Amino acid sequence: MTVAVLPASFDPITRGHVDIIARAAMLFERLVVAVYARPKKNVLFSLEERVGMVQESLAGIDNVQVQSFDCLLVDLMHELDATVVVRGLRWVSDFEFEFQQASANRKMLPGLETVCLFASTDYVFFSSSIIKEIAENAGDISSMVPEPVARRLRERFPARAATASPGR
Ligand code: ADP
Repeated sequence: MTVAVLPASFDPITRGHVDIIARAAMLFERLVVAVYARPKKNVLFSLEERVGMVQESLAGIDNVQVQSFDCLLVDLMHELDATVVVRGLRWVSDFEFEFQQASANRKMLPGLETVCLFASTDYVFFSSSIIKEIAENAGDISSMVPEPVARRLRERFPARAATASPGR
């Protein structure tokens, strides 16, 4: 049985992530969605919140298991007896990053393969950081994230009056 792992910080999970996960779940018998405990970037949500939102958002997909990790990805792969890393590709900049990561991971764990799925056109511009910025400025993010995430973002950024400065 091929075990695949999809690692990300999920701060928070978006509909773009859910799309890639659902498609990967059709390709592999077992898919572990792994939430980085300590990503390099500043996070808005705690690890528990991020894991909780991922679990709620993926509730309908049977062969997916959600867990956090606080070690090198290759060590998690080894522990899970997993051989495939799944990532999504949106832009050329994603390609450069993913190629570098995949090469480093394969150097550390020979035999490991990284499979990249192209983002669906409907979700290609969704990123957690853009969505957080829209939510912070009271924009409508309901079509961009699963409902449990939209709820948490609204709690975190209660609607406030528009404060655009007048032009000169
Ligand atoms: P991190 O930088 O913590 O790994 P990201 O959310 O930036 O987390 O990305 C995790 C993975 O999900 C990456 O492979 C990224 O390309 C992919 N991804 C992010 N957003 C989308 C999207 N809208 N459609 C497809 N793949 C995506």
